Amino acid sequence: MADGAGNNFDIVILGGGSGGYACALRAVQLGKTVALIEKSKLGGTCLHWGCIPTKALLHTAEVADLAREGSTFGVNSTFEGIDMTQVNKYKDGVIDRLYKGLQGLIKSGGITVVEGEGKLVDPKTVEVGGERYTGTNVVLATGSVSRTLGLEIGGRVITSTEALTMTEVPEKVVIIGGSVIGVEFASVWKSFGADVTIIEGLPTLVPLEDPTLSKGLERAFRKRKINFKTGVKFDSVKQTDDGVTVTLENGDTIEADLVLVAVGRGPNSAGMGYEEAGITVDRGWVPTNERLATNVDGVFAVGDLVPGLQLAHRGFAHGIFVAEEIAGLAPQPVVDSGIPRVTYCEPEIASVGITEPQAREKYGDAGVETIEYNLGGNGKSQILATAGTVKLVREKDGPIVGVHMIGARFGEQVGEASLMVNWEAYPEDVAQFIHAHPTQNEALGEAALALAGKPLHSHA
Ligand SMILES: Cc1cc2nc3c(=O)[nH]c(=O)nc-3n(C[C@H](O)[C@H](O)[C@H](O)COP(=O)(O)OP(=O)(O)OC[C@H]3O[C@@H](n4cnc5c(N)ncnc54)[C@H](O)[C@@H]3O)c2cc1C
Repeated sequence: MADGAGNNFDIVILGGGSGGYACALRAVQLGKTVALIEKSKLGGTCLHWGCIPTKALLHTAEVADLAREGSTFGVNSTFEGIDMTQVNKYKDGVIDRLYKGLQGLIKSGGITVVEGEGKLVDPKTVEVGGERYTGTNVVLATGSVSRTLGLEIGGRVITSTEALTMTEVPEKVVIIGGSVIGVEFASVWKSFGADVTIIEGLPTLVPLEDPTLSKGLERAFRKRKINFKTGVKFDSVKQTDDGVTVTLENGDTIEADLVLVAVGRGPNSAGMGYEEAGITVDRGWVPTNERLATNVDGVFAVGDLVPGLQLAHRGFAHGIFVAEEIAGLAPQPVVDSGIPRVTYCEPEIASVGITEPQAREKYGDAGVETIEYNLGGNGKSQILATAGTVKLVREKDGPIVGVHMIGARFGEQVGEASLMVNWEAYPEDVAQFIHAHPTQNEALGEAALALAGKPLHSHA
């Protein structure tokens, strides 16, 4: 085993985000020496520019909505406005606490953190500021960056990164892209009082989700007066000192103060020496086999850099997997279809497994059964005044292969959904388990009861 002396380590990890730091933490638990190279801040996109700050803004948005709607629940409250200084203080406070905690974990684990921009100079060596770090194994974990479709970012045209440090609430925003990041910001800004329009090139919002969820979100957004145009692409964006004009391919124009470009994220690998070191790179991504090994012996890749779902918990799982693989523990591969997905707009969307169209493709029309449980029958959802659906998809007479949920706070229900799909539970099995009343979790139990042919509080 390399002892970490003379810059020789068992594992050199390039990138200290979700994938990289999870790999480092697990590797030292397994007795490995680790160098973790990070050019910016440990924690990466998720902690500083992604999951955590966006969810803090969404919580502020929920509080704003509650202030507006207080009278519905008998509380005399009014919405007076958003104080972005305080919003940013609260958001940054959350990040700071988690960041300090993470730095403490990394330090106490005995991981060597190297600050600076690293470049792979051969399959076992990363160079940082003229210094070389050699690993018996190297893990590439440099993550992803916002795609911009050729639009110049600056001024009134921003990506999610700039959107997280705004000091004012915009009056009128256009969001290009109606997927996860786009609908989350649409939800935040609408609750903050802005006029919001989403442009989505595909036929529906959140187009990768089950059609029931896309339709449900569109219905909810219409009710919230969030504007959206689907099935139409933008053509150009022009900014002046006073505003910005978005022209669509159908000739329509929309004036706004601000345009958020939220068209997905691409791999962050340019100029890092991967191809020169012999690693196969496909349009910037680093493809791997199911054991997250690249084509070069001893070099692994994890997280957003590897084609597939771009989620922090996938990065964590990848990092842990690779550390255990290197340590010879032969772990189970991480399969994308079993990874839970949550979109934290209001109402929230949560899903795991395959959609109904995917199930029909896989098992044939006669081989699929579904149930949609309406939250109208769920006591806790009624107390919270939310509408929505829990949909289960099963292989006929077989296990549940997909769970798709929409409704306020339904992200918190994705854990049981994930167990159902990943343990290949039958609705009849789940129906036997008792779900506490009144909880939103009960909606999952009710959906299973209905799919098992014995509905309780189901309304057709
Ligand atoms: C707005 C937004 C909201 C999101 N919300 C969620 C969410 O709610 N839930 C969820 O699961 N996911 C969410 N994500 C996705 C999540 O942030 C990513 O999936 C996750 O961060 C990927 O982890 P990673 O380790 O692959 O990459 P990253 O977190 O991007 O980490 C890569 C690290 O490598 C460093 N690096 C890059 N190049 C070099 C170099 N040459 N030398 C040294 N260091 C380098 C970077 O500085 C960075 O710290 C969100 C993303 C965004 C943008």
